[in-house]
Amino acid sequence: MKLHVNNATKFYETKSGPLHALDNFSMDVTEGQFISVVGPSGCGKTTLLRLIAGFENPDQGKIFIEGDEITYLPPNKRPTNMVFQNYAIFPHMDVASNIGYGLRKEKLSKKELYQKIDRYLELIKLSGYGNRKAEQLSGGQRQRVALARALIMQPKVLLLDEPLGALDKQLRANMQIELRSLQKDVGITFVFVTHDQEESLSMSDRVAVMSRGKILQVSSPDELYEKPENEEVANFIGTINFFDATVSSINNEICSFKSKYLGMIQTNCKNNVYSIGEEVLVGIRPEKLNLHVNKPEQDSWIIEGIVENISYLGERSHYYVKIDGLSKSVSVSSQNVNRAQINQLINDNKKVWVTFDSDSLIVIKKNS
Ligand code: ADP
Ligand code: MG
Repeated sequence: MKLHVNNATKFYETKSGPLHALDNFSMDVTEGQFISVVGPSGCGKTTLLRLIAGFENPDQGKIFIEGDEITYLPPNKRPTNMVFQNYAIFPHMDVASNIGYGLRKEKLSKKELYQKIDRYLELIKLSGYGNRKAEQLSGGQRQRVALARALIMQPKVLLLDEPLGALDKQLRANMQIELRSLQKDVGITFVFVTHDQEESLSMSDRVAVMSRGKILQVSSPDELYEKPENEEVANFIGTINFFDATVSSINNEICSFKSKYLGMIQTNCKNNVYSIGEEVLVGIRPEKLNLHVNKPEQDSWIIEGIVENISYLGERSHYYVKIDGLSKSVSVSSQNVNRAQINQLINDNKKVWVTFDSDSLIVIKKNS
């Protein structure tokens, strides 16, 4: 295992008592992996990186890199490096000196040093910028310099704390692609922290979803989206509509549910996870729902309601459909309707129908 965090607990004393920034936290990262750690602000992401980097020690637990324990090693003795959100480079130094900064104590000849710096300038697509003052660079360029400065030390694990957080949307999207391809080139293990779930899905081999100092789920991006293990993950990653349901039978991994709004439905489920009579949540993603302005022929898996609102998102629209008796409107992202038609329906307060395929349902245990 490249990186292994074993039962790490870190608490801070606060006026209202000890605060568990990390609570029995464990995580494994394999060689060359790009793992994202995603979670809301304050859930402990930075604390985790600071523990791995050695800026902080855990109150309990251990940390290993390639099998060697590093829990209490000082930061400069660890094979790690960290990149921060706020481009922590020296503004008055030129780009080359910034990138070479960590190598100043190594006995390299000037030529060797500059060859090395040139290689990293090329890697971050800033060849020829070595003599520029760092303060003359744009935000995105500074962040690339910070990245090169960390990578030139050839860490076994690179820790990135919301490194794209200060960039505007377009630049951020470009940097996401660049960073991912750069990671593949250098083959270094990346632990990438973000609060942006979309960013975590688009960049990583694996995603660890955190909440209140704990990991909720670690999966590949598609598994996380298609098979969230609990309500919090399902809500945090993308949008989902939940309906209450009760398990009525289980046969050969097919579960039947009874739901007030969906009627009787069947879907695949694991045999030994649910019991008959158990109350569960049945979830469905907005893009798995179809909106119809005329009542479709089928009589099962159909819900009727009224469109309350539209949010236009460019390549698709989200329709919020109010279902009689449900407190939260259902979010539908359907492309088979015409917006003008729907606008008219909203004005006339007319009915619409929502259909879905039962294979698209996500069943989740309640209070898990
Ligand atoms: P994140 O990076 O996910 O936003 P942090 O790891 O920075 O979260 O913080 C986790 C929790 O620990 C937060 O509630 C934060 O307020 C608290 N915390 C972080 N650092 C300290 C500190 N030095 N002293 C007291 N509380 C802290
Ligand atoms: Mg943070």
